[in-house]
Amino acid sequence: MFKPEIKTKQPFASQFLESALVPGKEKLANSYMLTGSNTMDMYFLALETARILNCSGKTKDCACTSCGWIAQNRHPAVITVSPVDYVHHNKDGKPRTVITIDQARGLKQSLSVSSQYHRVVIFTDAKEGKEYQSHAGPAWQDYKDHISPPVLQNSDSDRESWIPGPLSYKTFHSEPANALLKIIEEPPPGVTFFFLAKDREDMLDTIVSRSQTIPLAYNPEKNLETGILNEFFSKFPPKTREEAVLYSERLMEIAKENSTSPEDLLNLIEKYLVLLIRHNSENSGFCRHAINRLKRLQQAKTELNSYVNPQAVMDSLLIGLAASK
Ligand SMILES: [Zn+2]
Repeated sequence: MFKPEIKTKQPFASQFLESALVPGKEKLANSYMLTGSNTMDMYFLALETARILNCSGKTKDCACTSCGWIAQNRHPAVITVSPVDYVHHNKDGKPRTVITIDQARGLKQSLSVSSQYHRVVIFTDAKEGKEYQSHAGPAWQDYKDHISPPVLQNSDSDRESWIPGPLSYKTFHSEPANALLKIIEEPPPGVTFFFLAKDREDMLDTIVSRSQTIPLAYNPEKNLETGILNEFFSKFPPKTREEAVLYSERLMEIAKENSTSPEDLLNLIEKYLVLLIRHNSENSGFCRHAINRLKRLQQAKTELNSYVNPQAVMDSLLIGLAASK
């Protein structure tokens, strides 16, 4: 599935998207808003989603054509829309400071033609030019083996100074947004939108209300936390009772290995569930699901505080989560 680099840095967001991409059971939203402080992580997540959706090999180190094109960022299914996008109607080669109405119209036009691919449209701010060259190196450092800046049509030249940045209502105004509302709400088959922003407060309500928000980790440096959470969410939620019991045992081991109490482990997971709910308040179906999980988690914490055997608490929590799926 997703590359280990991003799974370690952004375990929740990776797991969240991966779980929507299970072959044959895809339950992708029309539109995602990724929020947080690292736009490069968001850009990688969007590209990984595009890769999984279009990959024909489905193996770990796949070398199919789609995976290769995504790595070079020249896949026809990936459309990066930014103020320095010269493909969708800023063809004079001059960067803008905002996403223009012409870009919005051009995008609508190109999406109206059907495609053999699952198209992923990524809206992001971006900077490009000599003055950004020194920033671009460190920004791409973590990802240079996997992804690149978007390649321009009919051009092989590298865009070494291109860096994505968070979008806001200042760079994505209501006029181009309004031109796209209908297609974001009801995209043609096989089209998924991504908006990369710092905070949903920075974006137009009309876009927020049509997107599922996925908050990224703000302090991904904390290896202990991400390591634990990554393991927790790699098989979440368990599918059967047997899987739940095995999983619960593994969780207790993880807690022990990291000298963390089961309670702290649950606190960590609770914190993230609360964040997810807060960021998706408009999506009632998603919230109902997440709130149910949260309730089970809080019940487990109460039991731990009442000195119920921790393994038994975990067992019943995980079995409950498996059953509620
Ligand atoms: Zn592939």
